[in-house]
Amino acid sequence: VSDATREQLKRAEEHSAHNYSPLPVVIESGAGAWVKGIDGVDYLDVLAGYSALNFGHAHPALVRVAREQLGRLTLTSRAFQHDRFATFCEDLSRLCRKDAVLPMNTGAEAVETALKLARKWGYDVKGVPPGRAEVITCAGNFHGRTITIVGFSSDPDAYAGFGPYPAGFSSVEYGNAAALEAAITENTVAVLLEPIQGEAGVLVPPPGYLAAVRDICTRRGILMIADEIQSGLGRTGDTFACDHENVTPDVYVLGKALGGGLMPVSAVVADWPVMAVIGPGQHGSTFGGNPLACAVGSAVVDLLETGEYQERSRELGAYLHDMLSQLPPEHVSEVRGRGLWAGVQLADGMPAARTICERLLARRVLAKDAHEGTIRIAPPLVIERDELTWAVEQLADALAE
Ligand code: PLP
Repeated sequence: VSDATREQLKRAEEHSAHNYSPLPVVIESGAGAWVKGIDGVDYLDVLAGYSALNFGHAHPALVRVAREQLGRLTLTSRAFQHDRFATFCEDLSRLCRKDAVLPMNTGAEAVETALKLARKWGYDVKGVPPGRAEVITCAGNFHGRTITIVGFSSDPDAYAGFGPYPAGFSSVEYGNAAALEAAITENTVAVLLEPIQGEAGVLVPPPGYLAAVRDICTRRGILMIADEIQSGLGRTGDTFACDHENVTPDVYVLGKALGGGLMPVSAVVADWPVMAVIGPGQHGSTFGGNPLACAVGSAVVDLLETGEYQERSRELGAYLHDMLSQLPPEHVSEVRGRGLWAGVQLADGMPAARTICERLLARRVLAKDAHEGTIRIAPPLVIERDELTWAVEQLADALAE
């Protein structure tokens, strides 16, 4: 670790909350899949901002659109319409094959928005008695950090010490459709789930699970809310992780890559029978749907509509999973994931995933652990094949060190 790096980390530690424990690197610039540290070292980024950087650092088309918009108009508030709004909402609706968009900023805000939408739909459309709406969630979930959301987390690090929590949420085993169906009551309005659980360690549910959930929701008259904040927008080799089972949820929750890694942009996307329950004054955000966000969001949709990124993720993802599956079983017990997204489960007796990530840092690869025994590999979708090969070689060496 260079002196400059150590000095920056020390200053940050003195004047910032200690809610993260970053690896000892300080980044000053980035392009594509690479970033440069203030130590003058180039690092390959295989975390990609938890999938916010699906298009890589400083994607030229996104930067160009953002630059143009920066000098023209950045904020009107939703009190006044601006000239980027309609196009963005049309673009994202088309990508999702849904009627309407409700734009927000961060992922957690979009999840909260979807929950409000589901509850109001429950009261206004389904006829649930006032104050009784229930939402089913899944064990091991990660949907963000607000009090409501951590209230239905099963991870003590996330929820402990932050109660009391809002009522009206239950939890079932992830990947178990029968358990979900059994948990439905007359007041259930929705199930909220990640099509692949990212933060839990890139857990892919059993084949048929999403389709079964879709069928249950349709039969029992509840909304299927898919949190595709991390899994969506190309990461898994399709536009949405739900696409792999030809499933269309009632509500998509999107974030991260929707802002191209340039800025926070999130959204809830649904058809009118659901979206229409929210009226003026009932929900909103000062920055949600701002001109800069809409310009960048439309450019992101443009990139996705080429299909190029989904294809890269599909092809390079197959290559990545093939390479990872050849890691020795005494180091790696399991590799999970889909597309350019892998959770590498360390075998018993291996050092903590964090230690492996520190070794990777020394080898110029930036990766992040997900829970104790998992290393996640989720590079920008613009990564090249030889860079991916190199990254996995570094991982193999780090595991053997
Ligand atoms: N939902 C999922 C599936 C996520 O992975 C995340 C972030 O990791 C969130 C929600 C929260 O997003 P944000 O950090 O933008 O609030």
